[in-house]
Amino acid sequence: MEKILIFGHKNPDTDSICSSIVMEKIAKHYGIDAEAVRLGNLNKETEYILNYIELEAPRQISEVQEGQKVILVDHNEKEQSIDGREKSEIIAVIDHHRIASFETPMSLYYMCKPYGCTATILYEILKKENIEIDRNTAVLLLSAIISDTLLLKSPTCTEKDKEVYCELEKMLEINAEEYGLEMLKAGTDLSVYSADEVINLDAKEFNEKNKKIVIAQVNTADIEDVFVRREEIEFAMEKQIADKKLDLYVFLITDIINTNSKVISLGAEKEIIEKAFNVKLDENDSAMLEGVVSRKKQVVPKILEVL
Ligand code: MG
Ligand code: MG
Ligand code: MG
Repeated sequence: MEKILIFGHKNPDTDSICSSIVMEKIAKHYGIDAEAVRLGNLNKETEYILNYIELEAPRQISEVQEGQKVILVDHNEKEQSIDGREKSEIIAVIDHHRIASFETPMSLYYMCKPYGCTATILYEILKKENIEIDRNTAVLLLSAIISDTLLLKSPTCTEKDKEVYCELEKMLEINAEEYGLEMLKAGTDLSVYSADEVINLDAKEFNEKNKKIVIAQVNTADIEDVFVRREEIEFAMEKQIADKKLDLYVFLITDIINTNSKVISLGAEKEIIEKAFNVKLDENDSAMLEGVVSRKKQVVPKILEVL
């Protein structure tokens, strides 16, 4: 049987990487030849996790061959998926996002739950199917939950995520908060990245009402650490707007300690941010968004509402 490829979204985050690896384990449990791969570089946070368990990163790919069978985790929208996806056959999706720009000619397994993290859904599957959760798997699942829920502080975090977090913490006999803070902190080190890399670390593209929008986000312990680089960041954003013919580029600098974000909004439709959040962009095309940390729950729906 040909190999099935499993991957998360472009500019992969911790949930995309960890959930791909765990999904490979689940597939193999059923004798399916599957391989977790990734659609981009690892970020510092995910590097920290894989170092912690001394696990090699999945191989990177950039395209699929005609007829390649694939399993998507942590995303479904075409714009966030592999280039040329229409050539592949999607046999399953495990996700926790809205469903958009997604259609298939064939029936498939599609599991979507409104949890804070894909890994929480995978934990449920492992339990239900009675598949053993080894130490590495537990670390991968816990790390993904910590990452997507910002240590349970994000409004996307559900009771189910908390429950699974506690069960994994107990299983691992570690202090999940201590581990999680170190892990999140590792992800805030942006010093080695160029401005272009910074805006692409966690950028997602959306195509809505004929508008092309990118919403990018970085985590930091101090917004000023990132905002001092505003000029080069804006330059990189403007270049992407021109290259990709974007109508709007939103860059969120998220303070994971105080749980709020500073936004930089550029593009012909930049004022959408003012309408969506009832704020005024200052002379730097930026504004504070108090209490906003989740792109999925607090930013995407608000932008769609006023589009
Ligand atoms: Mg993700
Ligand atoms: Mg996720
Ligand atoms: Mg994310």
